[in-house]
Amino acid sequence: MKTKRKILLNPGPATTSFELKQSLVINDICPREDEFVDVINRLNLGLLKIVDAGPEEYVCVPFAGSGTLVMDVCINSLIPEGKQILILSNGSYSDRAVEICKYYQMDFIEIKSDHKKSYDFDLIDEHELNKVFAVYMTHHETGTGVLNDVYRLSKIAKKNGWVSIVDTISTYAMLPINLPKLGIDFIMTSSQKGIGAFAGLSFVIGKTAAIEKSKDYFKRSYYNNLYRQFNYFKETNQMHFTPPVQIAYASLRAVENIFIEGLSNKFKRHFELIQEIRINFKNLGFKEYIQEEFQSNILISIAYPDSSNWDFIKVHDYCYERGFTIYPGKNEKERYFRLSVFGDIHIKDIRQFFKTFRKAMDFYDIKIH
Ligand SMILES: *Cc1c(COP(=O)(O)O)cnc(C)c1O
Repeated sequence: MKTKRKILLNPGPATTSFELKQSLVINDICPREDEFVDVINRLNLGLLKIVDAGPEEYVCVPFAGSGTLVMDVCINSLIPEGKQILILSNGSYSDRAVEICKYYQMDFIEIKSDHKKSYDFDLIDEHELNKVFAVYMTHHETGTGVLNDVYRLSKIAKKNGWVSIVDTISTYAMLPINLPKLGIDFIMTSSQKGIGAFAGLSFVIGKTAAIEKSKDYFKRSYYNNLYRQFNYFKETNQMHFTPPVQIAYASLRAVENIFIEGLSNKFKRHFELIQEIRINFKNLGFKEYIQEEFQSNILISIAYPDSSNWDFIKVHDYCYERGFTIYPGKNEKERYFRLSVFGDIHIKDIRQFFKTFRKAMDFYDIKIH
């Protein structure tokens, strides 16, 4: 069976090659067999290597589910009862972290910063935070494309002795992260984002000693507890509950492909794709929604143009019917749309996209002054 090539410019799931789709077709195998154990082990080691984390000090713990699951896992597993988690928030993904805290009725403090700018650390008054045990931040607010300074976070966390947790789901394997140098305790990734595979597996990468420390913390979830999953894997070399076997094979293939392309080549490719998108929209007269200095350069938010004929849905549908998916902003009020470059996307795809986008503008007679 042949599939049509579609270019997903939405921020995940990633665009995948036909070759990667084919890696989903495998012989049936019980995940308790050594062959599968080896696949998971190689996948975990590959994922550690992408962020320069050595297996002596760090561990990668897989869970079956989308990215939000590992946000949930980190928040519900790493805070002892009666201790507080500090959420630094400047976008919709940190809002989601706050919601998770609320669902577990955890003690949390949120310090909000402007959604259209990188996090403003001057808002933190450390003297008022003596109950805080762990600090949580989103590296890249995928809802806008705003990037936060996680090195600054790491310094503050160390100074105060806080456990540090960062949602790196949209930056992992998209921007350079050297975890030992960064010094954050826990980060996250998900198979359909920077890894460029299919949705179904998500991973917590963190310090083994810090997970071991959480052994006797209050357990808020049976299925999604970090220590339980880690310990079961350590003792049996297997995931506790049935994993998505095919997704594991395809994720391993995607990770191997990353090393074949080379990490720095991959980062360069994504950066160049965004530059190409930026230049094309600029030439068409569009304006960016976020100031360039705050941007991640792996996603770009474009403000709706001041044109009476502009209709995002119509333009989206025109492009979608011709194989290109673009994505709305996080909320309709703010009037912007988003493009990102996860997975198997190349410069010729972007050039082809703009041919289609220009045709859509002509078709609907959209003029920008
Ligand atoms: C995609 C993403 C997630 C996870 O979203 P899911 O829909 O559960 O996969 C979490 N955080 C960030 C920053 C993301 O970009």
